[in-house]
Amino acid sequence: MNWLSNITPPGIKNIFKRPDNNSDTLWVKCKGCGEMVFQRDLELAHHVCPSCSHHMLMSPEERLKFIFDDKKFDRIELPDAVHDPLKFKDTKKYADRLKEHRKRTGEQDGLVAATGTIDDVEVVAAVQNFGFMGGSMGIAVGEGFVRAAEVAVEKAAPLIMFTASGGARMQESILALMQMPRTTIAVEMLRDAGLPFIVVLTNPTTGGVMASFAMLGDVHIAEPGALLGFAGRRVIEQTIREKLPQEFQKSEFLLEKGMVDIVVHRHDLKVTLAKLVRVLTNFPQRVASADGEPHSKPDTGIDTHQNTVKNSGDNPNAEVGKKPNVKLGVETPVEAALVKPKNPLPSALPTSLTDKVTEKLASKKSGKGKAKNKVKKETIEEAEIIVDKAAE
Ligand SMILES: [Zn+2]
Repeated sequence: MNWLSNITPPGIKNIFKRPDNNSDTLWVKCKGCGEMVFQRDLELAHHVCPSCSHHMLMSPEERLKFIFDDKKFDRIELPDAVHDPLKFKDTKKYADRLKEHRKRTGEQDGLVAATGTIDDVEVVAAVQNFGFMGGSMGIAVGEGFVRAAEVAVEKAAPLIMFTASGGARMQESILALMQMPRTTIAVEMLRDAGLPFIVVLTNPTTGGVMASFAMLGDVHIAEPGALLGFAGRRVIEQTIREKLPQEFQKSEFLLEKGMVDIVVHRHDLKVTLAKLVRVLTNFPQRVASADGEPHSKPDTGIDTHQNTVKNSGDNPNAEVGKKPNVKLGVETPVEAALVKPKNPLPSALPTSLTDKVTEKLASKKSGKGKAKNKVKKETIEEAEIIVDKAAE
């Protein structure tokens, strides 16, 4: 219709223009199973397909409402970054693209940050918006992430980052790539303050984001079936001239290879985050409820911990700033959070270690009857070594 649009008055284009806003559509086609899902049902299911559990995109606003207690949170004001520093133009002016996405999403750029509480623990959360230019990381996203980290340090709260990105924003060229070291330094800042940095990898997280802060978390949680990787599948296949496995760059594959700590269904995400932040911030744990299901619903207040919060002073997060007792980076945080939520923080000497010592003593005694004294001396020395290690 090019020749026609060239000779017709501008107004006529609008008549034939296709509506590009599909937010009002009643039915959504699932990319996982192809079924049509009623939009309202999808919203109630937090954008998880009821038939095949395919996890669809979630807007930052919905994401924040979903994870924070009572859906309440305070937005962090992000610094106003330079718009279009290179005066870039491809098929369209970058400035126009920005304007268009701002109008459509109602957001300034591809990152939203907020503070609030998860299961009564104060946290800072940042969410990348894939709907804003593919969640690409430009100056504004980098600035936003740094600001979120700064607020986390100010408040001595953990930072939870929800990633969703196609990579660095090509319209900002080297300035976009520079956000990789910048965000890395922001993560270092959190580490120096002894604050947990939890990354929730959502579909898709690729490129420069994956190569910087998305892979620097203390704990990496991934949503099922998410595409997570640096370079695209086709690029790698063409470079190495090999066929890649079917599940390559999917959450489950990365879990198997040790890049991801845990894959969590979106409906269990809040509970998992609640447990994790409690463990990592040394926050008093909830006591199992009468039905034997501890921590099943962080929203429903259980009174038991309220007392402990009151006892610990006005600010329940006063301890947060201290280095958490659980060592970050070792294999325990996720396990501790999910397997042993009741007593994850060994106070002085872990009981398992004392058990280990006595067990060792017993086995040596029974096994080697001869030269009793020698064995005894050796085992005592060994026990001392183990205790010394524990004390460290
Ligand atoms: Zn489906």
